[in-house]
Amino acid sequence: MSKYGFFEQVNRNFDKAAAYTKHDKGLLNQIKICNSVYKMQFPLRRDDGSIEVINAWRAEHSHHKFPTKGGIRYSMDVNEDEVMALAALMTYKCAVVDVPFGGAKGGVMIDKSAYSTAEIERITRRYTYELIKKNFIGPGIDVPAPDYGTGEQEMAWIVDTYSSISGGLDAAGCVTGKPVAQGGIRGRREATGRGVFFGVREICNYTDEMKRLGLTPGLSGKRVIIQGLGNVGYHAATFLQEGGAIIVGIAEMEGGIYNANGLDVESVFNFRREHKSLQNYPGSTFISDTLKTLEMDCDILIPAALENQITEENAANIKAKIIGEGANGPTTSAAHDILKSRGALIIPDTYLNAGGVTVSYFEWLKNLSHVRFGRMDRRFEENSALKMVAAIQKASGANFSKEEVERLTHGPSEEDLVNSGLEDTMITALEQIITLSNEHGVDLRTAAFINAIDKIAVSYKQLGIFP
Ligand code: NAD
Repeated sequence: MSKYGFFEQVNRNFDKAAAYTKHDKGLLNQIKICNSVYKMQFPLRRDDGSIEVINAWRAEHSHHKFPTKGGIRYSMDVNEDEVMALAALMTYKCAVVDVPFGGAKGGVMIDKSAYSTAEIERITRRYTYELIKKNFIGPGIDVPAPDYGTGEQEMAWIVDTYSSISGGLDAAGCVTGKPVAQGGIRGRREATGRGVFFGVREICNYTDEMKRLGLTPGLSGKRVIIQGLGNVGYHAATFLQEGGAIIVGIAEMEGGIYNANGLDVESVFNFRREHKSLQNYPGSTFISDTLKTLEMDCDILIPAALENQITEENAANIKAKIIGEGANGPTTSAAHDILKSRGALIIPDTYLNAGGVTVSYFEWLKNLSHVRFGRMDRRFEENSALKMVAAIQKASGANFSKEEVERLTHGPSEEDLVNSGLEDTMITALEQIITLSNEHGVDLRTAAFINAIDKIAVSYKQLGIFP
C-alpha cells in the first residue's frame, strides 16, 4: 500500500506536471481541488423485510465545463477519497481527449454479490433519487456512466428514475452507457477496451520507442498479461488478440492463469462464467496469489481491475516493458518511479482508458440531437459511391465483383462512426501527449497532465476568473 491516499497521489502527479507550466498558483489550486462532494446515506429494504443503511457518494471535481461526467462504482472499497480521486482523473481525462465535460465520479459502498437483483434495483433508483434531490444529475448538470461493478442495467434504472421524476425532452442524456433500446449507443459497451487497444497499438508503432525498449515495432506477437476480465479487461484482451497480440496471462479475483503459448480470451471468459473461477482452465498454470500473475514474463501488462495494484512491493518484480493502464490509478506514484527507473514505458490511465468517456460523449450528443448517427446520410453516401463506382467501371472497363462493390460503397452505420471517432480521438490525443513528452523531456503521465492542465487553464481564463 502507498503511504499517500488516492486523491493525494493524483495531486502529486498534478504537481509534478504543473511545475512545467507557467500558470498562476491560485489557478492551479482551483484546477486541483474538488468542487463538490455529496455524501449520502439512505435506507434499503431488503428482500427479507429488514432495513439496511447504504453509504454512497457523488463527487464533482471540476465545474470549468458542464455537465460533469463520470462513472458510478459499486464496491465495498468505495470511500470519499477514492471518489474524489476518480472524479479528478475524469477531469484530466476529458481534457486530454477533448471531451467538453468536467470530471465527476459516484460510488455506492456495497458488495453487489450480497444482494438480489431487486435489491440492486432499489439501491440504484434510490441513489438516483438522492442525486436528483440535490441537483447532482441531469443532462446539463452531471451525467453518470458505468464503472466498476455497474453496467447497462444500472444505467437503464437510472434513466428511468430520472425520466419519471424530472422528465424533460433531453432526459435520456442524464446518463450514458445505457442499453441501445433506452437511448444508448452502439459501441459504448466495448469502448474503453477498444480505446485501450487503439492506444497500445499506436504506441507499438512508435519505432524509436520500441527500439529503446528492445522490442520490435508493431503489436503483432507481443505477449500480454491482463488483470481483470470485466468490461475493460475482457474487451481490451479481445481486441488486442484480434490485433495480433498473444494473451499469455489473465488475473482475476480468485487467482491468475498463465500459458506462454497463449490463451484464447473468449474460451477463458466462457470457462470462468461456467465454473465461476479460472482454476483448472485447460493447458494453463494456475497462480493462486493473483497479484503474482502480474510478475510473469510478458511484454505488455494491462491492469484493468482496480487502483493500487502495482505498488512499491511488486513494481521491481514486474517484467513487462509496457504498462498500459486500463484501470484508473492502478500504479502508485512510488511504483511508477520504480518502473520508470527500470526503463519501462507507462501509458497512463488519463489517456489510455478515455475511450469510455469519449463514446459516452457521442451517446450524450445522440441523446440531445434525438437522432442516430448515420441516419441522415448513410443511404446518400452509399448511392453517391455507387454512382462513382459505376462511372469508374464504365470509363475503365473494369468489372468489380459484388463483394468489391459492397466494400467500396458501404455507407457508415452508427457503430462505424462511433469506432472511427474513437480511433481518431485516441490517435490525436496520443500525438499531443508524445509531442509534450518530447518537448519537456517527461514521461507520458506527466505529459498527459501538462496537456490537461493547459486546456483547463484556458477554460478558466476565458471565464474571466483568473488573469
Ligand atoms: P468491471 O466490474 O466490469 O470489471 C472489473 C473486473 O476486475 C471484474 O471481473 C473483477 O472480478 C476483477 N477484479 C476485481 N478485483 C480484482 C483483483 N484484485 N485481481 C484481479 N481481478 C480483479 O469493471 P470495469 O468497468 O471493467 O472497470 C475496471 C477498471 O477500469 C476500473 O478501475 C474502472 O474505474 C476503470 N474504467 C472503466 C471504464 C468503463 O467504461 N467501464 C472506463 C474507464 C475506466
